[in-house]
Amino acid sequence: MRFEVTTLGTGAALPARGRFPSAQLLNIHERLHLVDCGEGTQERLRQAEVNFNRIGTVFISHMHGDHYLGLMGLLSTMHLNGRLDELLVYGPPELREVIDVQLRASRTFLRFPLRIHVAPHENGTKLFEDPYVQVSTLRLDHRIPTTGFLFREKPHQRRLRQERLVDIPHYARNAVKCGEDLHLPDGTVVANEELTFDPLPPRSYAYCSDTAYAPELLDHIRGVDLLYHEATFTEAMAGRASETRHSTAKQAAMIARDAVVGRLLLGHFSSRYKNSTVLLEEALPIFPRTQLSNEGETFRIEPHIPVQRT
Ligand SMILES: [Zn+2]
Repeated sequence: MRFEVTTLGTGAALPARGRFPSAQLLNIHERLHLVDCGEGTQERLRQAEVNFNRIGTVFISHMHGDHYLGLMGLLSTMHLNGRLDELLVYGPPELREVIDVQLRASRTFLRFPLRIHVAPHENGTKLFEDPYVQVSTLRLDHRIPTTGFLFREKPHQRRLRQERLVDIPHYARNAVKCGEDLHLPDGTVVANEELTFDPLPPRSYAYCSDTAYAPELLDHIRGVDLLYHEATFTEAMAGRASETRHSTAKQAAMIARDAVVGRLLLGHFSSRYKNSTVLLEEALPIFPRTQLSNEGETFRIEPHIPVQRT
């Protein structure tokens, strides 16, 4: 089942040719989640051929315009498209007010239920869960309260051993996948470990934008499979990064290395860098498994299939 991130925008606050501001689309077991929604997100979604009405949840990290100014347009399109399904939005406390005033001014009464919840500026608060994933908060260090998001896949069921399938009656398969021993009508009991392999380890993704270098995050994102970390500046601009509470590419790589993550995706590039490879080059010596989160590209987290002992 899918666990993947599609980059819709990688720009920072000022417009840059060929880059859109922050937005990402997550597909987790065919459920779609939007993370940040800068201007132009609708156009990016169209390019990616995404049906807007499939998006069930939206997570907004903070109230800087390059992270949420596309949201009103998206809500409006969902309304015009006749959406009826509920939409859940998680974001800063001010977000509700900003949306309400715009709906009121245009006398728009949305056809679909819009549920806006506050994402607190703290670590580890559970925001959302569905059968496949749980989402919790990360406390980032920026000029205004900014919350990152940690997506953790729910634990999988145990995997049936193909060669033993014939021994497991259909009615008992779910129980066996849940870890129970098999009780047959004749009284025989077959131990679960004879019939199954361990479940696949759950996958995880952390979204950290915008933030200064924040080693206090390490304990909260340790070991995630994929980390998105902003990299607004190069090391030559480290002073500016600290002043504006952003990170350099090197600092992003240090966080990835120290949190022992699987892979690092860099984004939120300042418009001064026409070519973002200069940022990648600063990160690679510190954390080799780094990639640029190029717009339109999809980054998959594959299931980790452990070596099986039979
Ligand atoms: Zn910001």
